[in-house]
Amino acid sequence: MPEPRPMRRGSVVERAMKCGKPECPCHTDASARHGPYRSLVRVVEGKTRTRYLDSQQAEVAADQVQAAREFKAWADTYFERCERWADAELEPPRATSDEAPEKKGSRRRSRTRS
Ligand SMILES: [Zn+2]
Repeated sequence: MPEPRPMRRGSVVERAMKCGKPECPCHTDASARHGPYRSLVRVVEGKTRTRYLDSQQAEVAADQVQAAREFKAWADTYFERCERWADAELEPPRATSDEAPEKKGSRRRSRTRS
């Protein structure tokens, strides 16, 4: 099992922003937009959550996001293996089917009752 560590889902995005001043060129000229600003974006229940970050926070957050991706990849692989195992548990025994049922069932089922 991987050690617990700070991690988060979502992603760090970089975006140029418009400001609140109506006369500022950023409203009409995309290249005059401010930034780029980095933010943490995560969609939760269909809603996008955004948290703006300073550059130091953005670096930390990028590591956290990366850690979560690594963990998810690990967890997916882990699940796949466990589910294959679980599937195997539901399979009727094949290779041993010549022997195993007889050993278990011979006491009751293989005999006719009458
Ligand atoms: Zn502006």
